[in-house]
Amino acid sequence: MKIEDIIVTCLRVPSLDEECEWGEDAVIVEVVTDTGLVGIGETDSSPHAVKAFIEASDSNLYCMGLKKIIIGENPLEIQKLWDKMYWYSNYAGRRGLGIHALSAIDIALWDIASQYYQVPIYMLLGGKYRNEINAYGTFIPSSNISENADIAKALKEKGYKGLKFGGGILGDNPDSDYEIVKTVREAVGNDFDLRIDLACKWKTYGHSTKMFKMLEEFDLDWIEEPVLADNLTGYSKLSNLGITKISGGESLTTLHEFEHFMTNSQVDIIQPDITRCGGISEMRKIYNLAEFKGIKLVPHGFSTGILIAATVQFLASTQDGDLIEYSQSNSPLIASLDKNLIPLKNGKVEVPDCIGLNVNLDRNLMEKYKISDYGR
Ligand code: MG
Repeated sequence: MKIEDIIVTCLRVPSLDEECEWGEDAVIVEVVTDTGLVGIGETDSSPHAVKAFIEASDSNLYCMGLKKIIIGENPLEIQKLWDKMYWYSNYAGRRGLGIHALSAIDIALWDIASQYYQVPIYMLLGGKYRNEINAYGTFIPSSNISENADIAKALKEKGYKGLKFGGGILGDNPDSDYEIVKTVREAVGNDFDLRIDLACKWKTYGHSTKMFKMLEEFDLDWIEEPVLADNLTGYSKLSNLGITKISGGESLTTLHEFEHFMTNSQVDIIQPDITRCGGISEMRKIYNLAEFKGIKLVPHGFSTGILIAATVQFLASTQDGDLIEYSQSNSPLIASLDKNLIPLKNGKVEVPDCIGLNVNLDRNLMEKYKISDYGR
């Protein structure tokens, strides 16, 4: 079996001159083989930049486009191809965008391998620890603070035992941060896991400390990304306050970055995104190190059913992977792109005993939201 083609499709719900919210764009990568088997992957990144990174023509030895690197190769040699892509793109890649693009291809290769061997991906990863995974819902808070009570109550009624919110106005102002958390906590009650995601908007250790103390009364389960992932001193000092668990790492790629982050930030929870950190292959390595260090891994996830399918297969194969993020975005790319989207049932997702990712792309929807040629 040989890789014959890689098809990269950029999708976007708002037009190119309109603002784009998280979840409203996507880049889908299909790895086509000469046997007819096709693997599907994605990365939650900048779609046109990813497309360019995969389709780029050769430059020097270490600036090759990913497609050129693996055309004609056997797709079952997943780690070997991962290493080859990493090596021959390492000037332009190695971290960030290059690993995002590589992640999408890696996920597609696992999809192919599972179809080829006719066993589920979790079996290729070592076996299935659980039949269902607890999910927590993530929503972007309304700037109308009282409306967040209704949003949170509606999600609790869907069966969630935990919620997280972030983005929007959260992090912009101490008083409104306090009011939103208070509103949502009162709406869901005390016997409910509540988390907030600052998307680094508290920026400094000093401001974050003030906010940690202000919000202590609301018994948050974790506070996510109070400061930028590079601010390791800030993370470390905040961790040592002992007020609330701290999580982070969704922007990081590769085991190298996660090893450095885990060693120096002292966080309780790391949140690699399987579509960004290096795909299923690198996620396993990151998980193994986290487990070794006694750090919990709760994957980041705010994209299409491809991300959810890959994350579910991965988590099912891990001893401690018992919590998944489940986006509550209304974007059609999240709700409808994958006709086999793994549904939420009573606050959990079932682990499907399927072959491959079992993603069924809605081609009409792809056609509707497709953007071509780097936006030109
Ligand atoms: Mg986040």
